[in-house]
Amino acid sequence: MKQSEAGRAGEMDPDRLIQAALQARQRAWAPYSGFGVGAAILAVSGKIYTGCNIENASYGATICAERAAVAQAVSAGERYFSAVAVVGFSSCVRPADRPLAWPCGICRQVLSEFSGPDLPVYVARSATDYVMLTLGQLLPYQFGSDQLAPEPSD
Ligand SMILES: [Zn+2]
Repeated sequence: MKQSEAGRAGEMDPDRLIQAALQARQRAWAPYSGFGVGAAILAVSGKIYTGCNIENASYGATICAERAAVAQAVSAGERYFSAVAVVGFSSCVRPADRPLAWPCGICRQVLSEFSGPDLPVYVARSATDYVMLTLGQLLPYQFGSDQLAPEPSD
């Protein structure tokens, strides 16, 4: 087992998902920050979709790796996800010194559109060094479709 969390009942071994995120990171377009990010999302179909961060000279046009992966998956017809893995670090940083690159607030919200609060979010320095929190831990009190169509009150 990679870490104590990986042995819990009902939890997957995230090795393959983290490896896919590390591969996706290699395709990152990050000429401004030098901070490459890769994400891999496991759909309930069993397929893995990946994304990398894509920076832009107009910084606000940048898209995060997690949202790029969600866009790939949803564009392929997927609607529900089982797990997501994220890796992010500058190339000059040694593996042991890599940060844990948690999804930003926008990505947490986008993930919540297609996932429940139990979605495992693996944030990794490498395939053997990661931490898992659920989406509900990362984004409590989510805004969702329930708020758009509230139950009528008496
Ligand atoms: Zn983000």
